[in-house]
Amino acid sequence: MSFDNAFKKEAIYINGSWSAADNGATVEVINPATDEIIGTIPHCGRAETARAISSAHTAFKSWKKTTAEERSKLMGRLADEIVANLDELALLLTAEMGKPLAEAKGEIMGGAKYIRFFAEEAKRVYGDIIPSPWGDRRILVTKEPVGVVGAITPWNFPNSMIARKLGAALASGCTMVIKPSEFTPYSALAYGILAEKAGLPAGVINVLTGEAKDIGEEMCENPQVAKITFTGSTRVGKILAGNAGKAMKKISMELGGNAPFIVFDDADLDKAVEGAIASKFRNSGQTCVCANRLYIQAGVYDAFAEKLAKAVTEQLKPGNGLDDGVTQGPLINEAAVKKVHEHLEDAKSKGGKVIVGGTEVDGPGTFFQPTVVTGAHAEMRVAREETFGPLAVLFKFETEAEAIERANDTEYGLACYFYTNDLGRSFRVMEALEYGLVGVNEGVITTEVAPFGGVKDSGMGNEGSKYGLDDYLNIKYACFGGL
Ligand code: ADP
Repeated sequence: MSFDNAFKKEAIYINGSWSAADNGATVEVINPATDEIIGTIPHCGRAETARAISSAHTAFKSWKKTTAEERSKLMGRLADEIVANLDELALLLTAEMGKPLAEAKGEIMGGAKYIRFFAEEAKRVYGDIIPSPWGDRRILVTKEPVGVVGAITPWNFPNSMIARKLGAALASGCTMVIKPSEFTPYSALAYGILAEKAGLPAGVINVLTGEAKDIGEEMCENPQVAKITFTGSTRVGKILAGNAGKAMKKISMELGGNAPFIVFDDADLDKAVEGAIASKFRNSGQTCVCANRLYIQAGVYDAFAEKLAKAVTEQLKPGNGLDDGVTQGPLINEAAVKKVHEHLEDAKSKGGKVIVGGTEVDGPGTFFQPTVVTGAHAEMRVAREETFGPLAVLFKFETEAEAIERANDTEYGLACYFYTNDLGRSFRVMEALEYGLVGVNEGVITTEVAPFGGVKDSGMGNEGSKYGLDDYLNIKYACFGGL
């Protein structure tokens, strides 16, 4: 294949060794900026998944007994290896996913931060001694790793979505089997190489690629798996949660969103535009926390639309992520482009007006122009469904109560944003919004030190922060009697 990279592995990683699929099957990996095939990956099924689980289960027996200090040291080395190989890993990520190289570097550094944060947090998994109601008994609470974790991850952040699961798992003493998206497998398989370089014991991290449904079913049904952690669509999350529920496994689900981005009359409009550009168009609109519905108060609607259109025209440049000055990579595939098209056509047919963009980009690759539409209303598809692409639609509202009601009128509850300079309103609206993450006068708020998790159909559980460890720990109560 034409694409060479030191971290490109066309094999799965189980128990510290690399292999092909049992039947030798492979699938191709495409660069979405060029449509070129950059390599192949093994197409595995249940048998390989069961082996990976078994390897993680064996490794768990000794990994759970390591001290927090030992795990922390190894995780520190893993983070060091990620940083030391930043350039090569970023080139790999951009080749398979398309995001601009600078953003790929940012993501990988973010991944290293998750690993390092949890390496430190590993030493702070405290228990409790609870005052006993019995004079002759003592009450202790300890925390223990849940066991083998099955992780299924998406393509939009191929490195960091793994890092924040893996960091919490390793820190708490769990082992992991990772199944990345078939669109971005190499950044995940790279964790096998990184684990080797860092000196992690065989079987602690296993990575395999293949038939998503079969791998997911094996993870949910195999009794050696204790927990499923998933980031992806609500549709697939519900399948996995259902299957995991039948086997009473723990779950963490980071699912879709339909983020409202509200701008009040009293907001700093330039800041709001800056936030909207970052929140809506980052990763070409392909993040689950991207603004999907922009609600602008009537008094500033026209001014905001004009400023946003100008910023989009002047600041955003679609193209190959390897080229200088490019801010907008391709969408992940044709299906993603088709969805943007459909949402846009639907909006246009219901009275929406395109003020910037509105078309695909000519040439190879799956690109769509950053697009702004005014005149949006609740009957449009984009009001209910996540576009997951560079389409900003502007809804007009009159009152604070109306903005809150419309923002909450969705089955999703991941991220939301609003801009105001009124302190009282800041608190009122923050408290009224039914979401897991709130950006108040900020458009990008993710960090490893803060919790990340949604409510309603956006999932359950938190990643990142001290709370991120809880999902990987069981609580044990011990009563010492006969004192
Ligand atoms: P997206 O729409 O962002 O691609 P998906 O939910 O389809 O989100 O994909 C996220 C992850 O879920 C990917 O790793 C994908 O391969 C995996 N996946 C897709 N379908 C299933 C399934 N039926 N069971 C388990 N995993 C699945």
